[in-house]
Amino acid sequence: MSINASPAIGVPQSLLYYRYYPLWKTFFEELGGRVETSGPSCDDKLVRGSGHAHADSCVPIKLAFGHIDSLVAKGVDYLFLPKFFRLDRKSYVCPKVIGFNDMIKNSSLLDGRLSSASHSPYLIDELFDVHNCSDRSVFRRIGRKLGGDTPSADRAYSRALRSYDMASRKREVIFKNDILKRYKLKIGVIGHPYNVHDDFLSMGLLNEILKKGILPVTYEDMPPKSFECDLSKYPSDMFWSFGREIYRAALYFMSGLDFSISGLIYIAPFGCGLDSMLVSIVQAEAAARKMPFLNLTIDEHTARAGIMTRIEAFIDMIS
Ligand code: SF4
Repeated sequence: MSINASPAIGVPQSLLYYRYYPLWKTFFEELGGRVETSGPSCDDKLVRGSGHAHADSCVPIKLAFGHIDSLVAKGVDYLFLPKFFRLDRKSYVCPKVIGFNDMIKNSSLLDGRLSSASHSPYLIDELFDVHNCSDRSVFRRIGRKLGGDTPSADRAYSRALRSYDMASRKREVIFKNDILKRYKLKIGVIGHPYNVHDDFLSMGLLNEILKKGILPVTYEDMPPKSFECDLSKYPSDMFWSFGREIYRAALYFMSGLDFSISGLIYIAPFGCGLDSMLVSIVQAEAAARKMPFLNLTIDEHTARAGIMTRIEAFIDMIS
């Protein structure tokens, strides 16, 4: 049994949205819900988010607060506020991502806006762990919360997984046609997906590179399992999920296995503990290979003009 009244389910366009949106969207729609995103990031969301987030938070977390604020203001029926823990076996997401759900619940953002007469929006705040993701139980719980039964949740989840796989395959398109051959110069762009693929945070970096006739290649373009690297020299094989991906992408891009890059750009927010360490590790790997490397640090005060000047200088250098 699917749900009846087609409730509006608010999905913030931030953080893990950049990895799982096709899965979430299909799941909610298959169950009979109407998905409403918070829309692209912008100055207004950052200002509003910064007003509620802890001052020490990194800029993507402040922005994520702004996305939640915008969904609550829209008056959605349900607010999708998942809690992420592990995306892979024995690897964890950053504590700020793990704690984001609790930060929101304990911030001023929801004060007086959650427990109105209609108790709307209801929170969909299940824990997403690698085990839950793989065994459907979390999606069954969400389905029940929305008023659906187990068979309809299972059906919606199966279709959602298919959409997710299709979306992932689409992103590998650059390996399936002649795009790689068409561009003489390629630049690897690495960082957390919510920093690289959020045009507001990255200041449209991917498009700017493309406009210069250079192909930007990101982790999301890599064919899955195309490249494994040895992580055993790091404690617990580097236990951050995104740390593993970023390191793996950097080494793959510099390996020259399927194509050669002319430079590597790392987008890192100011105040990110993981990136502060990983930037140095990747920079050392790039130096050992004599690969031009640019670290772009972003925060809420970063001026677009300054970033563009650095990108142009980097491109001039590698050209
Ligand atoms: S990994 Fe870094 S950028 Fe991401 S939420 Fe944590 S501190 Fe912020």
